[in-house]
Amino acid sequence: MLVAPPTPVEPATSPVTVLTATQRREVPTILRDGAELVAIEDVAVGFGMTVSSKDSRGAATLVVGPHEVVLYEGKSLASIDGDLRLLSAPAQNEKNRWLVPVDGVPRLLGPLLDLPVDWRPAQRVLVLGHVSIPSVSVATFTSADLVRVVFDASEGVPFRVEQGSDEITVSVARDLIDVSLPAEPVSSGIVEWIQFRGGRDNTFVVRLGPRFREVRAREQESPPRLVLELRGEAASAEGGPPTPTPPPRSAPARPADGVRTVVIDPGHGGDEVGARGPGGTLEKDVVLAIARRLRDELVNKLGVQVFLTRDRDVELDLDTRTAIANNYKADLFISIHANSVRAPGAKGSEVYFLSYQASDEAAHRVALLEGIAEPLGRAAPGSALELILWDMAQAEHLEESSALATRIQDELGAVTHSRIRGVKQAPFRVLVGATMPAVLVEVAFISNPEEEQLLSSTDYQKTVAGALLRGIARYRRERSVRQGRATAPAGRP
Ligand SMILES: [Zn+2]
Repeated sequence: MLVAPPTPVEPATSPVTVLTATQRREVPTILRDGAELVAIEDVAVGFGMTVSSKDSRGAATLVVGPHEVVLYEGKSLASIDGDLRLLSAPAQNEKNRWLVPVDGVPRLLGPLLDLPVDWRPAQRVLVLGHVSIPSVSVATFTSADLVRVVFDASEGVPFRVEQGSDEITVSVARDLIDVSLPAEPVSSGIVEWIQFRGGRDNTFVVRLGPRFREVRAREQESPPRLVLELRGEAASAEGGPPTPTPPPRSAPARPADGVRTVVIDPGHGGDEVGARGPGGTLEKDVVLAIARRLRDELVNKLGVQVFLTRDRDVELDLDTRTAIANNYKADLFISIHANSVRAPGAKGSEVYFLSYQASDEAAHRVALLEGIAEPLGRAAPGSALELILWDMAQAEHLEESSALATRIQDELGAVTHSRIRGVKQAPFRVLVGATMPAVLVEVAFISNPEEEQLLSSTDYQKTVAGALLRGIARYRRERSVRQGRATAPAGRP
């Protein structure tokens, strides 16, 4: 059974923008069974794609130069130059056009056109080929009564500044920009936080604090930069410490570091309550509370786009959870749970990532508890289906998943002061289909009366969310260093 994703918007009501080096077009989409589909002929206009008529198997071949893609009506499979690949939803043939899931377009058109193809769900843009995307990086400089917020752009972009009662918005009228925000919170009382709201106008929001008094904006052309000077109440006397000035920029603004979208999955929900503490606390409730806090932290402090698989008390099957992450093309998937065992003394946090085999007996027990009783063995070992799943989903991300799990466990262990139970591997079904680094976090033992009480306190929920945030932030920094090194001189192919 497929449950429609509860959050956030049903996206299919608005078109997607197709961006190439020379053109920009709007292409309509439709919703079918919760999947957003687009006609691939509409997207590939101008690339000389030919489409054969449907054969007796319900298949058609798309050809561009030496490359070909075969689509099968009603099937979530495509053959790309002879290799079978999975799509997140079945292809449909209607009115002689082929409708495919929007998030599958890069997988299909990338090899077919022999070009980089990218889907940016936050801005709803499909990028075809080598398109120069301006980047905007934001830095803050704080002194006693002044905050400077500096927007450095990699090329001239039109900044638009508007002041509201409790926020200042800065919009950049471009189809697409890459954004980097300060990782550290602004703590001045003049500015509360800065985040990227995105949308059509690529809007940044500077939330004003209680000390805010006035703002001045100035723009410079070379290098392209917008500076907001926000002054606060209770300005100190003349001769106070000088405000640091941003250092001159020697290189273009740093491009986005590869973690733009995170999907958080609060475990269980609805009638499926998860574990129950001795005092009656339900796992489904505490993990939702922690997930919401983590979402706010990630949005405000790391400037990433965050979606929850569920933002209310609703039952979701495991495949739907990863399908949501895949549909949003998330860069990370984090499933949040609370542990439970018979022994009331068991305590602490554990972080898991996927493997075919549990790293130990206890890990296997947790895997069973969290509903993976039918692990990967469903398809006969070595069968085509299993290989495709393995090929398409978690396999290529195991190393990154392991790195993410380790960083999260480092930070969680540090705040929970519990015996570190460590990073483990287990065949969690909820992680199997994720096409991005994915971990499952057991934040504490709800079966332990002490930890049950902690879990239901908002202070502890904040502490846990803060630790998860730091773990993700550290992972992100290290990953950008790794990737920077790996791709040093060239960009993407
Ligand atoms: Zn659970």
